[in-house]
Amino acid sequence: MNSIDTYDFSGKRAIIRVDFNVPLNEKLEVTDATRIRAAIPTIKKVLEKGGSVILMSHLGRPKKGPEDKFSLKHIIPTIEQLLGVKVDFAPDCMGKEAAEKAAALKPGQVLLLENLRFYAEEEGKPRGLAEDATDDEKAAAKKAVKESQKEFTKKLASYADVYINDAFGTAHRAHASTALIAEYFPNDKMFGYVMEGELKAIDKVLDSPARPFTAILGGSKVSSKITIIEKLLQKVDNLILGGGMTYTFMAALGGKVGDSICEPDQFDTAKSILAKAKELGVKVFLAEDALCADAFSNEANTKVCPSNDIPDGWEGLDIGPKAEEAFRKVILESKTILWNGPVGVFEMSKFEGGSKAIALAIAEATKKGAYSLIGGGDSVACINKFGLAKEVSYVSTGGGALLEYMEGAVLPGVAAIRK
Ligand code: AMP
Repeated sequence: MNSIDTYDFSGKRAIIRVDFNVPLNEKLEVTDATRIRAAIPTIKKVLEKGGSVILMSHLGRPKKGPEDKFSLKHIIPTIEQLLGVKVDFAPDCMGKEAAEKAAALKPGQVLLLENLRFYAEEEGKPRGLAEDATDDEKAAAKKAVKESQKEFTKKLASYADVYINDAFGTAHRAHASTALIAEYFPNDKMFGYVMEGELKAIDKVLDSPARPFTAILGGSKVSSKITIIEKLLQKVDNLILGGGMTYTFMAALGGKVGDSICEPDQFDTAKSILAKAKELGVKVFLAEDALCADAFSNEANTKVCPSNDIPDGWEGLDIGPKAEEAFRKVILESKTILWNGPVGVFEMSKFEGGSKAIALAIAEATKKGAYSLIGGGDSVACINKFGLAKEVSYVSTGGGALLEYMEGAVLPGVAAIRK
């Protein structure tokens, strides 16, 4: 397999799939440049080694062709500032200008293509189907977009001599730019540093963790985390479960959870997770107490209750002080730590305390020599909110991709390069 460190880029045009799907404010300014910052070392490496760069990405979820609010032109100033190089722009990734600008690239130059998802072909999913479309019409539309996806992919590939995939966040999708394009570069394809780093970090945690290995899973629902919980049960020594799913477990065990988020259809799953953990000798930690509120609001009244005895009219929105202390103790004794999902509604300052305590404990354990991996969109926003991203071992840029990889799925974007 090629490596970005050893490949000879001199005089070559590298098309790099980056993940520049960054949040923008109403003025269309980048509010969190983490993903752009992450891709800079890969871009710099190609330029330093005498190559030129064509950047391609998606931004948001445009569903009906070009829309100004989803244009990648808005992020050019941020890329230029972080990269220190001028960035040219092709306002249509399939346009004549894109091909001409790509062909004219000189070593050291950078071209950004407009949002790939302005074309349905990027994802290969039909658009604009009538709501009452028949199954035959749906199948025909799907076939048509798959056909034109080949042309789309071939054209993107024609711009460059070498393909680099550095978009871990979309590696779980078999899209034109994330997987299909690799076929046109059988001997000239590779991962960028973001991808390499992500895969190494996850493999390190899953394949050879120093023990004890503790996973902390939070978020709102059990239903969205079952597969990862089941997978992790095979690997970890301790499993800390926090966030909204706490109350499904408590209710499944016969507790009273008031108005807390709760999924009765997951009671059996919750019970079987606990039974499986027991069988495997995995210690499961559920929050003993909860910071409860009388409304889902930062202005709500609050009180601490046992997580299995919450009065009606109240809902658990964060872990309580006893749980904080118990979780902290487990984290500080761990040698490998994986965190996915906040343990409370951290977006509201009144309910961020539990997640902050987790983040601080992870930072402290890392300082003592533990390896810590933080992943999943919300946990990253969370660790950034508390300014602790630099105090943990690795912060993953992938949300869905990270979870799917950990669940054991083969990611198309990874397979296409390794093939
Ligand atoms: P997920 O996308 O499943 O990781 O869920 C993340 C979301 O879970 C965040 O937006 C949190 O606000 C939310 N969350 C965490 N704890 C709770 C809770 N106790 N009740 C409701 N939502 C929660």
